[in-house]
Amino acid sequence: MRKIALLSILFVFCGQLMIAQNQYRKKVKSTKNVILMIPDGTSVGVYSAARWYQIYNELGSDRLAVDPYWCGTVKTYNSNAPIGDSAPTTSAYMTGYLSQAGNVAIYPEVDNVHDIHPVDANKSLQPLTTVLEAAKYDLKKSTGLVVTVQFPHATPADCSSHYYDRGKYNILASQQVANKLDVVIGSGNQYLTEDLQKELEARGTRVIRDDAKALREFDANQNVWALYEKTNLPFDMDRDDNKIPSLSEMTGKAIDRLSKNENGFFLMVEGSQVDYAAHANDPIAIMTEYLAFDRAVQVAIDFAKKDGNTTVVVVSDHGNSGFTIGEYGFKNYARRGLNDVFGTVSQFKVSARKLEELLLKAKPEEFRSIVKENTGIEITEEELTTLLSSKDYKEGDYMNVSNSVNLSSSLSKMLNSRTPFGFTTGGHTGEDVLLAVYHPNGDVPMGMNTNIEFNKYLCDVVGLKRPLDELTSEMFAKHTDVFQGLDCDIDVSGEYPKLIVKKGKKQMIIPAFKSAVQLNKKNLDLKSVVVYMDKNKTFYLPKFLRVEFDK
Ligand SMILES: [Zn+2]
Repeated sequence: MRKIALLSILFVFCGQLMIAQNQYRKKVKSTKNVILMIPDGTSVGVYSAARWYQIYNELGSDRLAVDPYWCGTVKTYNSNAPIGDSAPTTSAYMTGYLSQAGNVAIYPEVDNVHDIHPVDANKSLQPLTTVLEAAKYDLKKSTGLVVTVQFPHATPADCSSHYYDRGKYNILASQQVANKLDVVIGSGNQYLTEDLQKELEARGTRVIRDDAKALREFDANQNVWALYEKTNLPFDMDRDDNKIPSLSEMTGKAIDRLSKNENGFFLMVEGSQVDYAAHANDPIAIMTEYLAFDRAVQVAIDFAKKDGNTTVVVVSDHGNSGFTIGEYGFKNYARRGLNDVFGTVSQFKVSARKLEELLLKAKPEEFRSIVKENTGIEITEEELTTLLSSKDYKEGDYMNVSNSVNLSSSLSKMLNSRTPFGFTTGGHTGEDVLLAVYHPNGDVPMGMNTNIEFNKYLCDVVGLKRPLDELTSEMFAKHTDVFQGLDCDIDVSGEYPKLIVKKGKKQMIIPAFKSAVQLNKKNLDLKSVVVYMDKNKTFYLPKFLRVEFDK
């Protein structure tokens, strides 16, 4: 009797274990091409609202492009916080390791108070090979990034560079150029310096700046970087189509180029500014920004179906703003029609950001008519006073828009008082994000996947032959290990630090954040980037450099 009880306990225990691993369990067939699409900071409510907005305004079908492919959720979090930041969340997708706010594709430092799982102090700051880098390095696939923010911003940086501080754009941009991406389309002209542009052009990469026509006419016969605006793009609803191509056009152009490689490609497309719109608590910008991304999803899916050997993955990196259809002030909600919910917001012709821009240039007596013309709203005397007394400056930090009393936050409060959408915060939120996958054989991850399990799926579907850890130890070995017994100096006098290794007359100069070294005045081109962490005064570089040095 006892034996049976014990057996059944064991049985139940095993069952529990199996349930605990409820993700994709079947073998995943890799596909030649993988398109990873990240609508940044997109909570569940965004998809629902964007879909209704599309229906109400008869903008297309009653389904989103992503709708047929929902398969599960992703638990997305930092190594030391349940609410994620863009830098560590996509890092986790790309590397298979959790990290901290600000970290770009590196192993985190120890946070004794908050670490959710044990963190190994010996590995802290270690750059980690990303899925994109592995696809290029080991499988000779083409790689690309398409974004609507500055190209070294957190999410694209996570795919193609390494550092502990997402704000160091010069360090991230240099690595992205050095990483020899085949296609980069997006924003951030300011961060592609003349030197970096020369580096691209020396490799035969076409550089297009602020020229929509040039990208539209691009024949995909060479690699390309196409950038628009100094920092981020305008929201899609405020975009001038003559000057800036849409995200879906950019995605199409990227695919045209990348699909020329017979080994296939890995492309990351980011709907970067759903996140900005959510930070700003701006419902019309949230919905239209998502829909612009959704049209890019359609482009990717159409290609994938025609191609037959392409997987498209759509997943956000974290929630943002607690955006909901419905809020405290929206009484009798179950008896209110579509028009009550979407009527007013559908009158908004511009984002709150754009409206602020217009008002900042206007005289006080023009405020009423400008608001009326762009939103259909008649503002009250009291609202006019509030708007006019808002701090008359442009908020520099988009993260703080909804927490500060400036014109744009007064505006979003005013607009939101007319609409039935709810927000709980102007920051990120910690709920799971939705996951959608189109795979030609239906090998999709189901149920709840942690961000680390999701990384495993990406590695499988890309078809990596070796674990990322093995590539990391090959591409990013500590210089103190690689050049053991040799004379090593770190020169920090220039724009980027240099490691100088010497033995007798032999000398190797290794600049940080580049992919080229000098050995006795001969140039040596590397397949991966060299990273320097000033925090531990360590260069992380390819192991084979020692063999080259000793030759
Ligand atoms: Zn994000």
